[in-house]
Amino acid sequence: MIVELKQAASGADIERVTALLNGEFRTIKALEFDGRRFLGVSGAREDLDPGAIASHPAVLATSQNDATTYFTRRSFKDLRTEIAIGERRLGGDDMLIIAGPCTVEGPDELWRTAEAVKRLGVHAFRAGAFKPRTSPYNFQGLGREGLAMLGTIGKEFSLPIVSEILDPRDVGLAEDHIDVIQVGTRNMTNQALLKAIGGSKLPTIIKRGSSSKLDELVRAAEFVMYGGNPNVALCERGIQTFENATRSTLDVSAVPVLRRTTHLPIVIDPSHAAGERAYVEPLALAAAVVGADALLIECHVDPGMMIKPGDGPQALRPDDLEALLEKIEAVLRSVGRRLAPRL
Ligand code: PEP
Ligand code: MN
Repeated sequence: MIVELKQAASGADIERVTALLNGEFRTIKALEFDGRRFLGVSGAREDLDPGAIASHPAVLATSQNDATTYFTRRSFKDLRTEIAIGERRLGGDDMLIIAGPCTVEGPDELWRTAEAVKRLGVHAFRAGAFKPRTSPYNFQGLGREGLAMLGTIGKEFSLPIVSEILDPRDVGLAEDHIDVIQVGTRNMTNQALLKAIGGSKLPTIIKRGSSSKLDELVRAAEFVMYGGNPNVALCERGIQTFENATRSTLDVSAVPVLRRTTHLPIVIDPSHAAGERAYVEPLALAAAVVGADALLIECHVDPGMMIKPGDGPQALRPDDLEALLEKIEAVLRSVGRRLAPRL
């Protein structure tokens, strides 16, 4: 349950409310967002009477005792959340493009791909240093060394860096080297990771688990916000269905649904949904039409040379990305939107 305190609530008031809650709940924590103060409480007994808490003069509002989300809900705030990513804003009026290779394979390919996407004016560079794999025999990424390489690339090309971490202990490392944490589809339910990210202020994009409902994705974001980090975005990257003509099925409905249910920015990753280069562009255009705030696209200077097995078949070459960006601009214009000014 969340208890929102009135602006005028004094320290003594908060102590009295806390004392009232103490008899009813197991854990209580204080939270603050945009000057609004809250007590987050969990572990209520069966016979709890929330009325006594709701009617306390220092209390503005309380959530239902069994509510599973509060901070991520659309009703939590008037304006939609915007997250600063470098000089641009994710969740603002303009669409952002985040592009780069699946994996940090080494300094040379990383440098050349960063150079190519920078020339196209994308708004952030992506690449995985820690790779979640379905087999221990697949390349697991360069880890800390890869993250440090990304930090250097970010500074060299003035590009914000998006990269995945797998381990809660690596949040500090991410803060040292990158600008945006990616929580991968396999880790959407890793609550230790989500809680650790909640203790940071680093912007974070959480990818939908490939068999997770949208409500479960929002709850993953709630863990991060409940930890105190308001800079969370949601990412649809394709879900498992019976269809296997594409790697996953891109759920474009995720955008209007999440738009209605949350205030968080919404990212679409057409690459992992498509699994094949030829399908990335049409899915990206669809994402632009339904109102995604950003696209996360895999791009590599030489997909034929990528480490196998990997995401080579879905990686766009820089020329493909250039053509895609032109079409995205045209499609966005047709629906009264635009691409954020290129960097
Ligand atoms: C990735 O972005 O390279 C990745 C591993 O994505 P996902 O978690 O969506 O599979
Ligand atoms: Mn990938």
